[in-house]
This record gives sequence, structure tokens and C-alpha cells, in this order.
Amino acid sequence: MLALRYTWRLPQSHGLRFNARRALQTVAAASKIPEFAFAFDIDGVLVRSSDPLPRATKALSYLQSQRIPFILLTNGGGKHESERVADLSSKLDVQIDTSMFVQSHTPFADMDQYKDKTVMVVGGDGDKCRKVAEAYGFKTVVTPADILSAYPDVWPFSQQLLPYYSNFTRPLPAPIDPSSPSTSLRIDAVFVYNDPRDWGLDAQIMKDVLLSKGGVLGTLSSKNGDTSLPNNGYQQDNQPPVYFSNPDLLWAAKYHLPRLGQGGFREALEGIWAAITGGPTKGVELQKIVMGKPYKPTYEFAEKRLIAHRKAITQTNNKDLDPLRRVYMVGDNPASDIAGGNNYTSPYGTDWASILVQTGVYVEGTTPEHQPRKIVGDVWDAVAWAVAQEKWS
Ligand SMILES: [Mg+2]
Repeated sequence: MLALRYTWRLPQSHGLRFNARRALQTVAAASKIPEFAFAFDIDGVLVRSSDPLPRATKALSYLQSQRIPFILLTNGGGKHESERVADLSSKLDVQIDTSMFVQSHTPFADMDQYKDKTVMVVGGDGDKCRKVAEAYGFKTVVTPADILSAYPDVWPFSQQLLPYYSNFTRPLPAPIDPSSPSTSLRIDAVFVYNDPRDWGLDAQIMKDVLLSKGGVLGTLSSKNGDTSLPNNGYQQDNQPPVYFSNPDLLWAAKYHLPRLGQGGFREALEGIWAAITGGPTKGVELQKIVMGKPYKPTYEFAEKRLIAHRKAITQTNNKDLDPLRRVYMVGDNPASDIAGGNNYTSPYGTDWASILVQTGVYVEGTTPEHQPRKIVGDVWDAVAWAVAQEKWS
């Protein structure tokens, strides 16, 4: 108060002193490194039906001004991260870097062990997902449509689509020749990047790969059905691993009722697999890796990204940086965002605190099937609550 009275008498120097003090406070705030961060779902949190939600820009701009790290974590996909980020940055009027954006298939980008192998990419519009995989560094990418174009008999029911497929299919890197397995087309990993468009073709080719000997197309493993082996011999003969990027059974599209998502395709494939192998009643499962929220691999990947992003924006020597203590997972879907945040156990001991917003899937007044740490109105309320918890000023 004394200082204030003093400066009132000296208006010119008051201005100087005030600015200097503000500058010092700003420097102090900027040099304070937050030990908490945010992971935001996109649909129903930041945007809805591709329109930005009110106060989303305010929330993200505030975090950037405070150098509080955040990433965006979505089960969506089908386009390269740079394309989605450019679109979102302009919609929200917030500068977002590609490294802050984790979509369903982003973790595939780190799977270096397959980059020099032959992988099969399933799903998506045209061959956009092949191009995404190539941008990730995968050198030999085959799609089910490439196989259909080379061997139309592989799935007779899609032959009427060949004129459409011819717009983007490519020659196979090797022929399908079961008489010469060593030179025949061999798939080393199957990645379902996005929702399949031609379920019949994709299910047929995936079934063929799963029953093959060592992933060689056109072969059949002699171990299939051998009850003396684990899983009755299914997927016991060096068949490639199968990765699904998104577990969502249903998704909200423009139609007034929910539409089947990638999870719907997986359920269909599991049904076919059970019918062929005997399924769970015979002790046979479809061995696969499912990623995307609420599954652990996605949260693990997201946490690594957050830690790297925090280092980048604080420009601090790794050894000087205190560990990240808490991540606030902000989402609108109790079954994915909240369940995933609640169930995830960080290998670094980071506490994941879930916050449920009411601007998307979750409807106010109902009991969420997975209880978040806090229910708030919208994304700004989520940030304000978290920042208050952290006593950040
Ligand atoms: Mg959502």
C-alpha cells in the first residue's frame, strides 16, 4: 500500500515501477515449470460436428500463454497428422504442432521393426492410409485392394469395384505363388489404420493371412486346428501380428443414429474367426493388439509424447527438469477417455486425473459408467478446475 501511495505521487515513475514489477512477475511465472499437463480429446471437447466449441480456443490459448503442456488425443484417423493439425489449428485459431497430436494410428509411426518389411494397411478412404504409412517411413505397403486388383478371384464379390480401385492400387511387390513360398508375397504385419470401407474384401484377406503359413498369401498352415498346440494351433505358425488402431464400436456421424466404427468391423471379423476356428467355446481367440482409447498402448504413447513436448516447450536440460506429476485427461466419453485415464498406470508414476465435460457424448444428470475425478461443464471449466487444484497462478 505504501508503495502504491508513493507512486501515486509520482505518476511517471509509477508507470516505470509497475511495468518493471509486472515484467519480473512475468519472468518468474515463465521460469516456473508446471509439473502438470493436459491430454484433450477432440470431438465433443474442442469441436463438435467439426465446429469449434465455445471457450475451446480460450482454454488452449491460456495453457500456451502459461507454457502448460498439452496434447490432443483422439481415436480418429485416416489422414496424416499434419493435415489434421492444419485444419484444427485454423478452426481453433491456436497454433498446434504435429508432435502434440496423437490420433488412433500415430503409435504405428514408432514401430520401426516393420519399416523395412512388407506390411498390409487396411481401411480408410482410397489409399490415404497407405500414404500415411509411407509418411511414417514404411517402405513396402500393400493394401487388400492391391491384392484384389492383381488377383480378382481372391474375392469375387468386389470385382465390380475394380474400376474404382484402379485409381489408386499398385502392383504387388511379389506374386501370390504358394508353390514357391520363399518368393511369394509375404505379409509381416497387418495394420488396420481406419474404418474399412469394403468389409467383405478386407475380412477375406485378413482371414487368409491369419490362416496362412508364416504370412505367405495363398498358403494354409498345417498347424490350424491342432488341439495339442496353444490356441488350437491358430496363429501359431509365424503369422503376422494384427493391430487395430481404434476400438470404437459406434461413432456419431451426420446421420441421426450412431454408425458402426472400426470396432464393428473387428467384431464382425471376430465372429467369422470364431465360426471358422470354433472360437471361445473351443478355447480359440483372435490374437490381436487393439490400440486407441481406452487401451493402455495409446496412453503410454501419449505420455511419452507429453514428456517430450514438455521438454521442448520449457527448453530445459533433461536432467534439470522435475518429473511430470499429473496429467489431466479431459474427455466427453466415459467409456473411452475416462475409463482409459482411470485404468492407466503410468510407468513413470504420473497420476492421470480424468475430467468429464458435458459438451459431447456424456449427458448432464446421468450417471457415467466410469466415474471421472471431476465432472465440469466444458473444456474451459476443466482447465480452470485443474489449474486451481495445482494452485497455479
Ligand atoms: Mg470425444
